[in-house]
Amino acid sequence: MFIENFKVDSPNVEYTDHEIHSVYDYQTTELVHENRNGAYQWTVKPKSVKYEFKTHTCVPKLGVMLVGWGGNNGSTLTGGVIANREGISWATKDKVQQANYFGSLTQASTIRVGSYNGEEIYAPFKSLLPMVNPDDVVFGGWDISNMNLADAMARAKVFDIDLQKQLRPYMEHIVPLPGIYDPDFIAANQGDRANNVIKGSKKEQVQQIIKDMREFKEKNKVDKLVVLWTANTERYSKVVVGLNDTIENLMASLEKNESEISPSTLYGIACVLENIPFINGSPQNTFVPGLIDLAIQRNSLIGGDDFKSGQTKMKSVLVDFLVGAGIKPTSIVSYNHLGNNDGMNLSAPQTFRSKEISKSNVVDDMVASNAILYEPGEHPDHVVVIKYVPYVGDSKRAMDEYTSEIFMGGKSTIVLHNTCEDSLLAAPIILDLVLLAELSTRIQLKAEGEGKYHSFHPVATILSYLTKAPLVPPGTPVVNALAKQRAMLENIMRACVGLAPENNMILEYK
Ligand code: NAD
Repeated sequence: MFIENFKVDSPNVEYTDHEIHSVYDYQTTELVHENRNGAYQWTVKPKSVKYEFKTHTCVPKLGVMLVGWGGNNGSTLTGGVIANREGISWATKDKVQQANYFGSLTQASTIRVGSYNGEEIYAPFKSLLPMVNPDDVVFGGWDISNMNLADAMARAKVFDIDLQKQLRPYMEHIVPLPGIYDPDFIAANQGDRANNVIKGSKKEQVQQIIKDMREFKEKNKVDKLVVLWTANTERYSKVVVGLNDTIENLMASLEKNESEISPSTLYGIACVLENIPFINGSPQNTFVPGLIDLAIQRNSLIGGDDFKSGQTKMKSVLVDFLVGAGIKPTSIVSYNHLGNNDGMNLSAPQTFRSKEISKSNVVDDMVASNAILYEPGEHPDHVVVIKYVPYVGDSKRAMDEYTSEIFMGGKSTIVLHNTCEDSLLAAPIILDLVLLAELSTRIQLKAEGEGKYHSFHPVATILSYLTKAPLVPPGTPVVNALAKQRAMLENIMRACVGLAPENNMILEYK
């Protein structure tokens, strides 16, 4: 059964006009490794820590500025939200299709709230805490190409033609702001596109981005802004002592107009200086140490890296299942071919390398979790190939072969083939990223013994379900397994309304 929304009735939860206050027992464990009677022994002690959460319930008017607004993802997301907002339907050769938000965790998935008369009751994920309605988001952003968004949508070849015709009047007057362009960081084949660029030194470019964000906020009367990079994948920038390793060095390098500061890092600096959440949807190392430290120092949310949309999402489910089942994946080979501009940009070795790195670490935590299967340091062979095939456009093909060792030396091979418009996978993820980033800035917490409430750590691990290579604060474990990432997000939101984590025990029926 499905219910639209619910309220929690508990002595641990208080709803006021402006906030939800919850007191929550965090059940965890403490591990001790000690010498007892001459032999080292592990002891696990269950531990309970009392947390208090405070969630502001006033939902702001949200502005979202996309870097790379005129790209396939940017135009698809913008058109998709307009279609939902305007209630547009369109004819396909199969049926009349209604706009929807399928593929968005916040908008199209549900959570279990309990059992009622022997039936499982589900509610929308978004009913857990008050969230911005995507239909109300005001979009803006930058692109190094001055193509208007209606033409960009046509160039992307993602939406059905009848939908494009209906969206055109809403999008043809929208032209992205000039972007920061540095040909050294993206493929040379992108040069033809760059006719809408910010001039000046790197410092002046940062100042222009800051000015753009302030003007956008003012003009659109938005209460809050989130910025997200969905522009071309850049090459990795070199991390060098004295250049970008500390806040001081990064800011000094900005003054000196150092060539190795990438455009994405420049947008990141602008956002952090303005305390505007900044999310990186591409694989490059935008968040160099100096920028991470700046975000931590200014308590400004940063999140990334690289949307987890298709092949990697499957990988973080399948390998988790295999290793969790006691099966040993020994070889994972992933081929992709795609024909959109992203594919063209990735055909250059330096930008491909960024993608390869981001795709390659995704099974590490699962492999490390099972020393029965893997010797220390042992790792499955893992190869990622990406080829540019213009004809397939945005309709990316992903082919995967997983070979595993099973019972008694047997081998099992699973082969997957996936065909799908890449931007239709990425757009709802972008939406979730910005909505959840905004929500997380409204949550405060404190643990027992902590005097003051504080926000979540500015490096937003809460977004890791949506990213291929989750950015985490120094010293924090990286979790890639998709089910764990989803559970983390859902359970933290449940804690904010005083609900226990979903434990799937269903003891009442045992
Ligand atoms: P796209 O090439 O269609 O769009 C990128 C846009 O960014 C282009 O319009 C380009 O002109 C613009 N651009 C480039 N550099 C810029 C800069 N410095 N400032 C402003 N604009 C700039 O690509 P896409 O398919 O929309 O993908 C965008 C990014 O998302 C890529 O890096 C891609 O790797 C990443 N990504 C996509 C998916 C997916 O499923 N679609 C998944 C993971 C990551």
